[in-house]
Amino acid sequence: MSAFEASLTARFGARVRRGQPLAELTSFRIGGPADFAIEVEDERELADALAIASRHQVPALCLGTGTNILISDRGVRGLVLRLGSGFKEIQVNGCRLKAGAAAPFGEVVALAVAHGLAGLEYGEGIPGSVGGALIMNAGAFGGELAPVVSSVRGAHHDGRLVTLDGREIHFSYRQTALPPGFVVAAVEFNLRPADREALRAKVSELKAKRAARQPQGVPNAGSIFRNPPGNFAGRLLEACGLKGECIGGAAFSRQHANFIVNLGGARAADVRALMDLACQKVEQQTGIRLEPEVKLVGEW
Ligand SMILES: Cc1cc2nc3c(=O)[nH]c(=O)nc-3n(C[C@H](O)[C@H](O)[C@H](O)COP(=O)(O)OP(=O)(O)OC[C@H]3O[C@@H](n4cnc5c(N)ncnc54)[C@H](O)[C@@H]3O)c2cc1C
Repeated sequence: MSAFEASLTARFGARVRRGQPLAELTSFRIGGPADFAIEVEDERELADALAIASRHQVPALCLGTGTNILISDRGVRGLVLRLGSGFKEIQVNGCRLKAGAAAPFGEVVALAVAHGLAGLEYGEGIPGSVGGALIMNAGAFGGELAPVVSSVRGAHHDGRLVTLDGREIHFSYRQTALPPGFVVAAVEFNLRPADREALRAKVSELKAKRAARQPQGVPNAGSIFRNPPGNFAGRLLEACGLKGECIGGAAFSRQHANFIVNLGGARAADVRALMDLACQKVEQQTGIRLEPEVKLVGEW
């Protein structure tokens, strides 16, 4: 047993998982195992797990609900952290909504609307956790998380717990600049009072738009590529004939070219090969270099 494993086991006992399969923890249903995995239940446990990994120079990765992630077939070396039910609380106080990082983002959107609070309705239908939404600066239909983030509670890679002021965090398109290895524990949003019925109508409209545009009922990880400035990745992929293109068990969706779907038994290598093929074709035909939106993690 390594010194790292011994320390982790001394702190968390039988809760430490070795060789934990990760595919089922992702919306793609793809990927190999984690060397070690642990679900932490409160900030103290989060800080301790990070401190142990940091002390032993073992990489730690926090996984949300795995809806924007492609895990390699060989899996993840080091420690995979998940946030347990202690990070799921949502509180509303006037225009302030505070949510634990493991709370489903959809629940936060619904609760804001139910309280007549505007600023998150674009998020209807975005799967994933609050922590994942913060890290990705999740957005859709012209809205994004950034403008309503008031503060972020979390831990540095070595386990130091801090609260960051939202105004000091740099957000950009599907990106949030946080220190490397920072784990989000909770997010506070500053929302605006608004007419509840108008918010409900907006949410219903966005729900219908999403249902019409996106593949339903097949494992995927949302948009595979970021939209290049002034363009849409889906439009470029479609124009280059990639809709329906397939490698192994992975295929570009026929419904939306910027989605890769797992038709059954797809490997991460299939998805990666399809992404490489698409990048090559799009660059050859348009001169535009596509960049992944999905996070590629693990040992490739
Ligand atoms: C069908 C479908 C539709 C989608 N539509 C949209 C859309 O319209 N707009 C959009 O923006 N996204 C969309 N996505 C992508 C995805 O849902 C979002 O990016 C979501 O916010 C990711 O949250 P998650 O908890 O699943 O994060 P994960 O996929 O688990 O992780 C994403 C990244 O965040 C990190 N991370 C997660 N939690 C934490 C934490 N607590 N602390 C530190 N790091 C963390 C992970 O390490 C990883 O780097 C869609 C995905 C699917 C499958």
